[in-house]
Amino acid sequence: MRHELVVPVGDLIGSPGKERPFKGGTSPARLDFGDSRVDGPMSVSGRVVGLIDAVEAEFDVTATGHFTCTRCLIEWDEPVMVEAKQYFRTMPDEDGYAIVDDEVDVSGPARDELALALPAKPLCRQDCLGLCPTCGTDLNSEPCGGHGDDSDSPFATLKDLLEP
Ligand SMILES: [Zn+2]
Ligand SMILES: [Zn+2]
Repeated sequence: MRHELVVPVGDLIGSPGKERPFKGGTSPARLDFGDSRVDGPMSVSGRVVGLIDAVEAEFDVTATGHFTCTRCLIEWDEPVMVEAKQYFRTMPDEDGYAIVDDEVDVSGPARDELALALPAKPLCRQDCLGLCPTCGTDLNSEPCGGHGDDSDSPFATLKDLLEP
């Protein structure tokens, strides 16, 4: 697929130190990882540097992550940024990335690195107190006062849902 993250590298292979900057945006499709996801575009910028028999892309990836706190279920958006490097040779690597027709496509490695940067169990803050498993109160905003025997609680079902 042609897009701004397909970079011509024919003149870089075998020219160590020669480099070409690139910048562009593309959709990473939808990334889902636990309670984190990205479903908007990502923007990528960096440069491709020539090596003896390969090229190396160095790049930054930025996207908006959408997170759900593992403990209190609050949702928020936050930028996700990651820096990465990727070698390309004429032989495909284990992920299938290679120099094809004197071009490299940085969007695949950028998407992979973005996925790796997403936390599987995001927390709204490190000391989030979460929800009371009995009454569902958000313990960050108010204490619920505790419970005695809660077997008759209308929230007993919720408790079952919230407990692993
Ligand atoms: Zn939380
Ligand atoms: Zn409670």
